[in-house]
Amino acid sequence: MGLLSFGTPLAWQDTKKLADYIRSHGVAQFLHTWDRVKDRYGDELYWGDEIEYMVVSFDDDARNAKLSLRQSEILAKLQAIVDGISSSCPDHVFVPLFHPEYGRFMLESTPGAPYSNKVTDLLTVEGNMRYRRSLAQKHLKKNEIPLTLTSYPRLGTQGKFTDPYSDPHGAVSSHSLFLPEEITNPHARFPTLTANIRSRRGSKVAINLPIFFDENTPRPFVDPTIPWDRNIYPEDPEAKNGAALQDHVYMDAMGFGMGCCCLQLTFQACSVAEARRIYDSFVPLAPIFLALTAASPLWRGYITDVDARWNVISASVDDRTEEERGLKPLKNDRYRIPKSRYDSVSLYISDNWLNRPEYNDTEVPYDAEIFKRLRDHGIDDFLAKHISHLFIRDPLVIFSELKEQDDEHSMDHFENIQSTNWQTVRFKPPPIGSSIGWRVEFRPMEIQMTDFENAAFAVFVVLLTRAVLSQNLNFYIPISKVDENMQRAQHRDALRTEKFYFRKDIFLPNSSRSSSATSSGKTSPVGSDCGCDGVSNGNGIHKLPSEKTKKMRNCFPEVPPPPEEYNARKVEEEYEEMTVEEVMNGKGYNPGLITLVYEYVDTLDIDDGQRSRLFEYLDFVRKRSTGELQTPATWTRNFVRSHPAYKFDSVVSEEINYDLLKEVDEIERGVKKAPELLPEYYTGRDEDQGSIGL
Ligand code: ADP
Ligand code: MG
Ligand code: MG
Ligand code: MG
Ligand code: MG
Ligand code: MG
Repeated sequence: MGLLSFGTPLAWQDTKKLADYIRSHGVAQFLHTWDRVKDRYGDELYWGDEIEYMVVSFDDDARNAKLSLRQSEILAKLQAIVDGISSSCPDHVFVPLFHPEYGRFMLESTPGAPYSNKVTDLLTVEGNMRYRRSLAQKHLKKNEIPLTLTSYPRLGTQGKFTDPYSDPHGAVSSHSLFLPEEITNPHARFPTLTANIRSRRGSKVAINLPIFFDENTPRPFVDPTIPWDRNIYPEDPEAKNGAALQDHVYMDAMGFGMGCCCLQLTFQACSVAEARRIYDSFVPLAPIFLALTAASPLWRGYITDVDARWNVISASVDDRTEEERGLKPLKNDRYRIPKSRYDSVSLYISDNWLNRPEYNDTEVPYDAEIFKRLRDHGIDDFLAKHISHLFIRDPLVIFSELKEQDDEHSMDHFENIQSTNWQTVRFKPPPIGSSIGWRVEFRPMEIQMTDFENAAFAVFVVLLTRAVLSQNLNFYIPISKVDENMQRAQHRDALRTEKFYFRKDIFLPNSSRSSSATSSGKTSPVGSDCGCDGVSNGNGIHKLPSEKTKKMRNCFPEVPPPPEEYNARKVEEEYEEMTVEEVMNGKGYNPGLITLVYEYVDTLDIDDGQRSRLFEYLDFVRKRSTGELQTPATWTRNFVRSHPAYKFDSVVSEEINYDLLKEVDEIERGVKKAPELLPEYYTGRDEDQGSIGL
């Protein structure tokens, strides 16, 4: 999580009173930053990953796998270790960083320094991830393991799922029927976020996932494990008064969503314009990568009919009031708001011609006054809309000591709003007083059980951004279709059974590979020696640089203007439905994202050994995309359904959960082979601790 400040957090009523103040100063802060960095140019590609873990505490006697709530102790220990390494070898770039997360059972790690644009850095990613995991593992108790699971299968069940045990009766922040207060990181920010979301909304959050009906699942399914008649908190009757839906698994607290783990990637761009192009390219890719990485079918002790976490987190922090959700006419609130503050991106932001205004086709409320202020300052329409849309939200946590800020030298109030808009992609302005440039964060992916998989997706996405920029790839489709794709991506087995809206022709209209190219133009393959070094050759034809490079490029040429005779197609003719396999491996004029990445790798100066290691990652992503290898979601579902103790009633018992988590650990370490999940060349962490050797 971003922003962890210290001080006295305000209760909701006082926070609400300061909302306009925070927004107004937040905008002022953004404008100061804008003036400073709008013309920044030439920043190198730096990038980094974030890996989140759940620390699982295994009780082998009771055969129970619980969540260890020792986050504070563990982080203090890891910090001391990391500080020790830093002081004994100050230049060591591998010294990792560990961060707190929402759940008191969670850890996050990032590389100590971002990766550079060196191609060879791509080959250090997996080792770096494995090293971080090993380091965490080494300083845990013997029975604790940092697993990279997206959702913990028995969070919020009856019985003991935390170590130590706590009762949900004491959940003073969330008022949850299921999760104890102790599930949440004790830092004031987290309980306050939890309580203020509930207060702002006027009820507990309500999350309902359709249950997976198995042979013996009772129909209708009315969950016998919900304490329907509990009477401790005023919200307790919500479950029986309609919040808990029949045939669904009901959850009622922020922890169910923010207690999930994911894989995030942040990229530094050469300029703000390039950051905006990368951002827009990521928007339609987000649901595709959510489907590719789907890893979370099990929730609150049940098998559900979904494979991915997105809607759970989205609903878990949905602070909109009934008026904002459109359930009541607007009276006290300013907008009807179609989405939770955790949701898919609502606006494309690039200001080049590829971004046609028609693509922003959904209802997107924005603060008109802030919009005007940004426009009056000289900011273009697209970016002004983006910021003024983020700024319809109220701040959720304000520390009274931090209210007064010097707007020229602080981004705290801006970040207050920005960092609680949790969307599939985030546009990150340069922080004050640092060398860091404009960045874009890709946030949809679920965490994978092994660092091999996490590295494969990270490396793939890095290379894809280079392919996008070098070839001016165009993925634009209307936002409404991206939203629809986000829903489809979460369906059970979406990877193999769903279709997704995707752009048919992803090349510039004058490119030799475009469907609109003349037939003579189509013969020259991209990546061949064209001698134009990636710059427009005067005929408007854009090609990859011919010279192989040990570094991935930083600044790519701007998108060239459209050809004179350019007739834009009707937007509805630009896209069609495709399977993930087709998006990745090709359909019609789309050669497939994997093909484009292979072509990009062809332009890089690496030796055969390096190439074959990169190809392992690409090959793995390809096998995942075709269904040759299962998603973690499918694998997990199958594990439960073939467990001898499973009663075909959708229930994931303590015993099944224990065996599942043991198996995940054994697969990760390479002790157990899982050919349906991982390619034959996967070596576990025990056999190969990475090449870093600290
Ligand atoms: P947040 O949780 O707000 O996304 P983190 O600090 O957890 O932020 O993660 C930031 C990520 O950005 C890490 O992966 C880090 O390696 C990466 N990173 C750090 N510096 C840069 C940079 N200059 N350009 C791109 N990425 C960077
Ligand atoms: Mg995180
Ligand atoms: Mg982080
Ligand atoms: Mg964060
Ligand atoms: Mg992040
Ligand atoms: Mg492990």
